[in-house]
Amino acid sequence: MTRVAIVGVAGRMGRTLVNAVEQDTEATLAGGVVEPGSSLAGADIGELAGVGKRGVVAVDSLESIVDDFDVLIDFTAPNVTLGNLAFCAKHGKRIVIGTTGMSDDELAELDSYRDKLAMVFAPNMSVGVNLTLKLLETAAKALGDEGYDIEVIESHHRHKVDAPSGTAIKMGEVVAASLDRTLKEHGVFERVGQCGPRSDKEIGFATVRAGDIVGEHTVMFATEGERIEITHKASSRMTFAKGAVRAARWVAGKDNGRYDMQDVLGLI
Ligand code: NAD
Repeated sequence: MTRVAIVGVAGRMGRTLVNAVEQDTEATLAGGVVEPGSSLAGADIGELAGVGKRGVVAVDSLESIVDDFDVLIDFTAPNVTLGNLAFCAKHGKRIVIGTTGMSDDELAELDSYRDKLAMVFAPNMSVGVNLTLKLLETAAKALGDEGYDIEVIESHHRHKVDAPSGTAIKMGEVVAASLDRTLKEHGVFERVGQCGPRSDKEIGFATVRAGDIVGEHTVMFATEGERIEITHKASSRMTFAKGAVRAARWVAGKDNGRYDMQDVLGLI
């Protein structure tokens, strides 16, 4: 049984994660952490998630549950996640990170922990999205240098704070890497005013923020005469949460290293 603690347990993903751990027969709910000073500290995390009392109360410091868990699941914010990464490395814990929106410096700091603990870090934990990444690799290799324009379009709910989504960037990176391009050189993240025609090798990104959209991503390969679109639509956060719990069980037995969902699902 993998003992799992959840940071940001009162958040959208946190509450969904409580549900996902509850449904998993090989993982158990060992703790939940809310923001320091939160009035939700002391609340039963099952009640917070709407699954009824579970006898595990939310705390506002990871320190106070350090002996209770094996793997931490963190879907919060970049600065919070980096603090928790340091905590887990110091205390011999493993961590699953779903937080998105990290800057290059924050990503470099995250990467510096790859030898200090076992972590799974993925901007999208859904099995379907990770399979989609494989399909994109195949499509990009077949089409990308044959006159097909590549565009990534993503839609999310109105509360999302980072753009484009971590998943859209990951999709762009997979496509770019398959074609010996980089997003630094070929990514186009804004088109406004007289921006001129697109260049052949650019990879464009477009973002929609509206209502309660859980997460939709399309990568378009368009040329004269045809267009191929590879689309993934998430209809419930449960898909990310189930993937994260699967990652937690998987990483519990792993050596130090930085892994992603492709490793967890055996797609590499
Ligand atoms: P949210 O705002 O609903 O939840 C974040 C929670 O973190 C909040 O409850 C907040 O109180 C809590 N928090 C902030 N600081 C904290 C601290 N110091 N200690 C403990 N808790 C703290 O956001 P969300 O929609 O749940 O998304 C969270 C993150 O997960 C975002 O970066 C989002 O993009 C990402 N996400 C990733 C995936 C994936 O599959 N990888 C899927 C969905 C969302």
